[in-house]
Amino acid sequence: MRIAYRPYYLAVIVILLFSAVAAGAADQTVVLKAARMFDGKSKSLIPNSVVLVQGDKIVDVGSTVTIPSDAKVIDLGDMTLSPGFMDAHTHLTLDFTGNFNERRLKELQTNVSEMTLMAISYARATLEAGFTTVRDLGSRFVGSPEFVDVALRNAINHGISPGPHMLVATKGIGATGGHFDATGGYRDKLFGREPDPSEGIADGPDEIRKAVRFEVKNGANVIKAAVSGGVLSLADEVDTPQFTPAEMAALVDESHRLRKKVAVHCHGDQAAREAIEAGVDSIEHGSFMKTETLQLMKTKGIYLVPTLMATEYIMSKIDSYPPALQAKARAAGAARSEMFRNAVKMGVKIALGTDAGVFPHGDNAKEFALMVGLGMQPIDALRSGTSNDADLLGIGQAVGTLEKGKRADIVAMPGDPTADITATEHISFVMKDGKIFRNGPATPRTTAVRDDDVDLPAD
Ligand SMILES: [Zn+2]
Repeated sequence: MRIAYRPYYLAVIVILLFSAVAAGAADQTVVLKAARMFDGKSKSLIPNSVVLVQGDKIVDVGSTVTIPSDAKVIDLGDMTLSPGFMDAHTHLTLDFTGNFNERRLKELQTNVSEMTLMAISYARATLEAGFTTVRDLGSRFVGSPEFVDVALRNAINHGISPGPHMLVATKGIGATGGHFDATGGYRDKLFGREPDPSEGIADGPDEIRKAVRFEVKNGANVIKAAVSGGVLSLADEVDTPQFTPAEMAALVDESHRLRKKVAVHCHGDQAAREAIEAGVDSIEHGSFMKTETLQLMKTKGIYLVPTLMATEYIMSKIDSYPPALQAKARAAGAARSEMFRNAVKMGVKIALGTDAGVFPHGDNAKEFALMVGLGMQPIDALRSGTSNDADLLGIGQAVGTLEKGKRADIVAMPGDPTADITATEHISFVMKDGKIFRNGPATPRTTAVRDDDVDLPAD
């Protein structure tokens, strides 16, 4: 009898031991100490701060916190702790750096699977730069139906590859010949037919509703649309409206019915005014917005996502773009600084977003210094890249501040970012969901594959 029961007892003991080990691992408190803390909401930094983390949650924060004797203490010294940064406008699956025309050719040559593998390195670079959450606003491959942003988001969530939490927009929605029509600038019928709502190209309220439903069906967390022309597209003017008020109303109504927020790419003033009146949740870029339009935005509580980095990067190598795009970039670049200064002065809500992918992934934090350079207080820039983004993304209950009960997405940078905002570009500690992804030097970045070293399938 005793012999017969032995395996049962053994099994119970083994299970108990395993649960004790598992519980012990989950319960071990990690203590982060640093000379300063930006908590995501206060108007000044808090000296000599401590954050207690258990599992994936923050369990206590402050300068007078009791540290459990069995805790693992990580003393970061002369650093500033901050909620993980957020970027409300990235393209983690794309790389628009390098020469414009070479990149267009490369896009036609490269298998989408290969682009997906590259995207894994962009996601890692973004996380290691301190961005623990991104809103990814558009992932399209001309002539191919893949949802690489959805795949990347899911792979990161499953712990398969390191990267930020992603809210994805899939393909984005735009009009025929507009900024999102990837067949623009090529000869007619080169791709066999006009793109349709399943590729995000939609005309008229009904097609727009269909495109919204199709994107949500395939995993979109947010709806992105191009309501005015853009800079890096060949068949449109940068500031012309691309949807009618009736089309914008359908876009917003259908998205909000499905509980999805609407982010609109928009440079032009008329398109911005009509989009604001239709009730979108954020205006991306907003280069030519006049003060009356900004006032309307403020009244309605709509966010501006300025993407200063995109213009900055394009202007730094303006001569490499085709002449038509140079003219569009110069016009948008000349207008956006005054628009941004006005928005700051008027108190329009601003959420940090960069358009990463137009410039190399991982350089996102340079946006902080650009915003401060155009009149924003450093502490407000920090809020813009943490709690404001969390509010815009609709995830403020879970992240964006260092508070008890919030998810342990925490970064640290050297020195005092309110004295020198470029400290944000030197993150050296990254924790996401309570796990440490970086404490020291970053992984060397994978740069874009240039046209002259593309491996064609025949090789
Ligand atoms: Zn963009």
